[in-house]
Amino acid sequence: MTQPSTPETPSLNFIQEIMAADRDANKWSGRVNTRFPPEPNGYLHIGHAKSICINFGLAREFGGVCNLRFDDTNPTKEDVEYVDSIMHDVRWLGFDWDDRLYYASDYFEQLYQWAVQLINKGKAYVCDLTGDEVREHRGTLTAPGKNSPFRDRSVAENLDLFARMKAGEFPDGSRTLRAKIDMAQPNLNMRDPVMYRILKAEHHRTGNKWCIYATYDWAHGQSDSIERITHSICTLEFENHRPLYDWYLDELDLFHPQQIEFARLNLTYTVMSKRRLLELVTGNHVRGWDDPRMPTLAGMRRRGYPPEAIRNFCTKIGVSKTDSMIEMSVLEGAVRDDLNKKAPRVLGVLRPLKVVIDNYPEGQVDELEAINNPEDESMGTRKLPFARELYIERDDFREDPPKGYYRLSPGKEVRLRYAYFVTCKSVVKDPKTGEVTELHCTYDPATRGGAAPDGRKVQGTIHWVSAGHAIDAEVRLYDYLFRIPDLAEVPPGEDYKSYINPESLVVLQGCKLEPGLAKAEPGSRFQFERQGYFCVDPVDSKPGTPVFNRTVSLKDSWAKIEKGQKKKGG
Ligand code: ATP
Ligand code: MG
Repeated sequence: MTQPSTPETPSLNFIQEIMAADRDANKWSGRVNTRFPPEPNGYLHIGHAKSICINFGLAREFGGVCNLRFDDTNPTKEDVEYVDSIMHDVRWLGFDWDDRLYYASDYFEQLYQWAVQLINKGKAYVCDLTGDEVREHRGTLTAPGKNSPFRDRSVAENLDLFARMKAGEFPDGSRTLRAKIDMAQPNLNMRDPVMYRILKAEHHRTGNKWCIYATYDWAHGQSDSIERITHSICTLEFENHRPLYDWYLDELDLFHPQQIEFARLNLTYTVMSKRRLLELVTGNHVRGWDDPRMPTLAGMRRRGYPPEAIRNFCTKIGVSKTDSMIEMSVLEGAVRDDLNKKAPRVLGVLRPLKVVIDNYPEGQVDELEAINNPEDESMGTRKLPFARELYIERDDFREDPPKGYYRLSPGKEVRLRYAYFVTCKSVVKDPKTGEVTELHCTYDPATRGGAAPDGRKVQGTIHWVSAGHAIDAEVRLYDYLFRIPDLAEVPPGEDYKSYINPESLVVLQGCKLEPGLAKAEPGSRFQFERQGYFCVDPVDSKPGTPVFNRTVSLKDSWAKIEKGQKKKGG
């Protein structure tokens, strides 16, 4: 039953409606059992996260369970590395299959027996056409297909040939087992689809036991049935396969789950096909499956995306029956919302410019109090060392400031965050290049903490670190992996890889960070004030040589700081 939409009870999506109706009608004796069925031929990506959240999420919501099943019917493309990464990623996202870990390969014997059953019923036959010939005979959307010349083989001959296919008597690709349905059906999937192909390849679980492998359509529904799946949720491209899904189960008279299709997730500025992701990895266009620019869960984890943010994103985009393209900014927004609440604030200078406070005593160190998270008082405060030599952001100084530039320039006074008001007195330049190499400033000791007792105001607040205390770090800034939002718009004949964004990774060396970050754990996340959210790279960061990934930039950070300071009356 559909419930009215109120803030407390948001309206149900169409899959929830089906499940609620089934529950009310006691269709599966009240049981809900979904499954997430990845093929272990690559790492999971954000599209899979949507499917995981739907399958595991709905099971949880309806008091049911969700299985993890590896759809491992394609030995040449699959690998245990992928199996392991998929299990890791599902758990990381916050879901658990408990003891319900299955492999389609566990069902190979049962599938074989059922294929024999279909042959005995006159519903399957061994066909000697080559792959190309099968395609030629299939017809088109407008023209019916042609029967295979092998379609009317006797049951006995089919049984014999199929057993010999299994025994390895025939070369790869020389024969197939096909379902005998109808070559004139408007739905091409029903035109005697292939059930088995010969492939003498070693399987990562069954070794060399099998040299015939089930197709997706033949394996999938029967695997669902064996596991007593109630709702077999998949993406829209399988809508046309549903009649075949139903046909196999009906012909074999098996437990019959309901297949339900939803629209897959597409995101701007990235790719979501495993074939293309593999190509980016093997072609060294990225630094591996876990490259922080990749849409993989491994990449997002390494970049610092929290699993909660990904789950919230999946909830936010909802479930529908129409394909659409979601803006990457929606995902980034979910990441920001989550990190805003959790990430401690720190000061870090990415492109340092030296500042000497001429009237600050040499050798003196002041300990200034800084707030760890203005969104969460319970996160407390910390001490920042302040000394005569500092670094500020190169971009926070302009010798000839444009109109409206509120940061530092000659003669101008600004606030150093949590510290003092400082005024720029002079500029040191490289005599050869003219580049500004150092600023000389004075500070007003009466403004400690960032406010002037005489009520004097400054327009800008900038971040800084103490030169003698700061730690050095490498910081990696990321941008969209591709230059164009929709890769479907790459003109035919052009390589989508030529649209890779050359600035998708910018590496900065010699960044200066507040000293407390020396102890940051791999994977921990921070907001560098005014710069964005950053995460300690769990792979390349080492004690003494820290590496930070920028998870996501800040939106309107500057406007917010300005406003905040004005409210405080600074
Ligand atoms: P690809 O097309 O990238 O190779 P796939 O669909 O072949 O992916 P599987 O391992 O078969 O990958 O996918 C496991 C499950 O995840 C399937 O149920 C599939 O429908 C779902 N899934 C894959 N991609 C998406 C996506 N972009 N959005 C939502 N669900 C997806
Ligand atoms: Mg698939």
